[in-house]
Amino acid sequence: MSGTVRQPGPVLAAPARRTTARGATRTLRRLASGLGMGLGLGVGLVLSMLSPAQAAELRLRVLQTSDIHMNLLSYDYYQDRDTAEFGLARTVTLIHQARAESPNSLLFDNGDLLQGNPLGDVVARVHPLAADQVHPAYKVLNLLGVDAANLGNHEFNYGLPFLRQAIAGANFPYLNANVMDADGQRHAFQPSVMLTREMVDEQGHPRRLKIGVIGLTPPQIMEWDRQNLSGRVQVRDMVEVAREQVPALRRQGADLVIVIAHTGIDKTELPRLSENMAAQLARVPGVDALLLGHAHTEFPGPSFSGYPGVDLAQGRLFGVPAVMPGRWGDHLGVIDLRLSDRGGRWQVIHSQSSLRPIFDRANRRSLAAADPMPAVVIAREHQATLDHVRSEVARTEVPIHSYFSQVTESESVRLVAQAQLAYAKRAVQGTALERLPMLSAAAPFKSGGRQGWTQYTDIPAGPVAIKHVADLYVYPNTIKVLKLTGAQVRDWLEMSAGQFRRIDPAGPAEQPLLDTAYPGFNFDMMWGADGALQYAIDLSQPARFNRDGQPVGDTHRIVDLRWRGQPLDDVAEFLVVTNNYRAFGGGHFPALGADKVVVDAPDETREALAHYLASAPGAGAASAGTDRATAGPSWRILPVPGVKLRFLSGAAGARYLGDGAAVTWVKDNGDGSAWYELAR
Ligand code: MN
Ligand code: MG
Repeated sequence: MSGTVRQPGPVLAAPARRTTARGATRTLRRLASGLGMGLGLGVGLVLSMLSPAQAAELRLRVLQTSDIHMNLLSYDYYQDRDTAEFGLARTVTLIHQARAESPNSLLFDNGDLLQGNPLGDVVARVHPLAADQVHPAYKVLNLLGVDAANLGNHEFNYGLPFLRQAIAGANFPYLNANVMDADGQRHAFQPSVMLTREMVDEQGHPRRLKIGVIGLTPPQIMEWDRQNLSGRVQVRDMVEVAREQVPALRRQGADLVIVIAHTGIDKTELPRLSENMAAQLARVPGVDALLLGHAHTEFPGPSFSGYPGVDLAQGRLFGVPAVMPGRWGDHLGVIDLRLSDRGGRWQVIHSQSSLRPIFDRANRRSLAAADPMPAVVIAREHQATLDHVRSEVARTEVPIHSYFSQVTESESVRLVAQAQLAYAKRAVQGTALERLPMLSAAAPFKSGGRQGWTQYTDIPAGPVAIKHVADLYVYPNTIKVLKLTGAQVRDWLEMSAGQFRRIDPAGPAEQPLLDTAYPGFNFDMMWGADGALQYAIDLSQPARFNRDGQPVGDTHRIVDLRWRGQPLDDVAEFLVVTNNYRAFGGGHFPALGADKVVVDAPDETREALAHYLASAPGAGAASAGTDRATAGPSWRILPVPGVKLRFLSGAAGARYLGDGAAVTWVKDNGDGSAWYELAR
């Protein structure tokens, strides 16, 4: 007999179907088959007479949040103040609006929910969730009426027992189809769900739809959370799993299949087990909508212009409706689908993906007030987090400031570089990259000048709190690791040395050091672990590169560049830890770009710094000053005989001068700035 009407395979909660246009068509087909007529002319005629009158259309709005990273409230715990720029509390307002505009909607969360700010740490580590407590993320999401959620990579950060305990408090299904038990045979989590939902078609008739949903997470969790997962679970390739799960849901009678994938969009075809597989997932047959995340980018959005298969006008990827809503609740992802049941089954006949921002970046204006619900239901956890960020996590024996960070090694920048090193060492652990020597590059972000003469990092000796992290690292950058040759490392430092003016040994007795047109945030300094990298800067030479990274002469300002005491080998390979801005070409540094990135971590540098500061004594700010004293600075400016090297900085830096300081006072300019001089 014809298989037209059979639904093979297990049917979950098979609902009694109403007599709809589709039901009628099926009855006719069954009749036709029974009479031994194929789908011949006669039946075709009947169908075409039936369809125009009885085919229904239905609008379904699919809403998505992703990468909330515990920003349930619009509160910046590092700055210790409210913000209008992120936070699920504001996205909730947009969710309510979007639901009110559409007859049918579904809401999904795409993971990286449970970790990423001090609130996440407080719930997992500081005051660990008790057996009878609901995780604050689910106090909020349960009230939001989430239909299903996916596990992101960061869900594994606090270990499997915590994850299982936390998601047990969710009153919606948690999905993952590509993490298997240790034996590789069984799914470690629920791979998919068949949601049965009563919806309303355009004629106002109730319609029951079955929506198959699967969840996927990057296989890299086995590297990033090796200590939590090794020997406990195995991972499979996201695309291979989707090729099995999507048709299985179809066979089980799904009217629609939605793939929630914690993955981003890459420009190139990637090998199996890759991290950002959206383009390949979109080409798995039978996917009606693709919900993306992980990369913290915005789709549809201009950054994906020209990517293969991208339709920015409709928001599609290889023809499949797709959306990725940034991060931290800064956008709500919306996919509007128009379905028709013409032909006997629901099909997507139109789609439009869009993003709804909570904040107008161009005009610095809020677009969504915070919904009061999250603040009410997690008031206790929020207060515990405030207490935590305001409390001491480390002590520093020396003040940490950036007044002289453009001309001498500064503890304020060195700490950032050391935190990056600690993070990246863990990230490459157990990979082929582990054997390569690692350097870390960081620049002074708060260096006065055009930012204003009060804009310096300035943390007094004594207690260091989590919120000081914002003073040390003002940008929400993420960590990247590049693989470079020794020659490229040398050029990086040469480019940085463009911050200085050329000093003429035969010129005036006092000469200014800094080219004030050069932004401080492009003055990268580099460190290895335990003082492994050393170099000096010879300012009697002209800069090797211009502002665009083009060589302007065969001169060298970087001299005596040494790795573990030996001259740095130009053909040796190095890993260099930096931020996303620099890694992807910010500042036009020679040779830097996406092709050099070997660890594309979505994690914030600030987050790494907070963990570094709070880590065991001896590793963080607690040791500030002491290991610097033993290792000595990584770099220095060579004296130019007969010339006093002077620079401008904030006048408030005067309190850090004294015996043995690398800098001496010259004069106050009366406008908040002062002239200083390198001590010799
Ligand atoms: Mn994320
Ligand atoms: Mg992620």
